Amino acid sequence: MTDLVLALDFGGTKIAAALVDPFGSVVRSARVPTPSSNPWDAVASVISSVVQDSAVAGVGIASAGPVDAVAGTVSPINVPSWRAFPLRESVASLFPGVPVELAGDGVCMALGEHWRGAGQGSTFMVGLVVSTGVGGGLVLDGRPFGGRTGNAGHIGHIVVEPDGLPCTCGGRGCVETVASGPRMVAWARRAGWRAPDDADAALLAAAALAGEEIPQEAFERAGRAVGVAIAGAAAVCDLELAVIGGGVAQAGELLFEPVRRALKTHAGLSYLGGLEVRAAELGGEAGLVGAAALVRQTV
Ligand SMILES: [Zn+2]
Repeated sequence: MTDLVLALDFGGTKIAAALVDPFGSVVRSARVPTPSSNPWDAVASVISSVVQDSAVAGVGIASAGPVDAVAGTVSPINVPSWRAFPLRESVASLFPGVPVELAGDGVCMALGEHWRGAGQGSTFMVGLVVSTGVGGGLVLDGRPFGGRTGNAGHIGHIVVEPDGLPCTCGGRGCVETVASGPRMVAWARRAGWRAPDDADAALLAAAALAGEEIPQEAFERAGRAVGVAIAGAAAVCDLELAVIGGGVAQAGELLFEPVRRALKTHAGLSYLGGLEVRAAELGGEAGLVGAAALVRQTV
């Protein structure tokens, strides 16, 4: 009887798989870029390169969303060739008789950080990934909470500027339109920041640390938007902790300081007095560890 779980993290830019032991440690892993066509072939090949001839006790899948956790299908925004793709069933066909669970990558990131990272010891938390987009997921009462379809906790689409810019979701003024790396860079350019064509959030952070005012203001705006959204989510879900990861969060206090300031202003209810914000600890592994945690209880 094996105690290893296979975790798969399907994203818009990369596909990762890992064998995870009962303590949440990655035993073996592999990753490939997400191809623009035929992503299933890449998924099957990364899985086989990780599993080799090991037996697995279960499979947990984290996928870029939206997902339909009830039907087991995924429709990742950045992978147009997959609409309602039956990812759970397709993976299950490779592992007959083994439990296979699917959740959004935001839920898995939160669950991974809750199990092995910055969320350890908490019971009601939200996890955020502030990167090329802004994703998130909830752990409530110590368990992943996906909601009706598996997409709950998508904090990047809380509206912080009702008259703001159009969002990838079809709405307007979401956190993502202010705080995602590309949107921060675009805002800074519009405000007059002179930067190379390939400037990204890391360069923006370096410029802010070097004292440039416009990049500093970009992080100020992003942190405020993230903090406002966390305050709203915390008030609704009675949260004690927000864990923030992703490339933009690598900027550290440039982002976290305005987040905390926004919470001081906007998380005023007495039951939010202890609300904490912490930096994620697992980096890119959080989704894999969380995907493994999805099946940990069932195997
Ligand atoms: Zn949106």
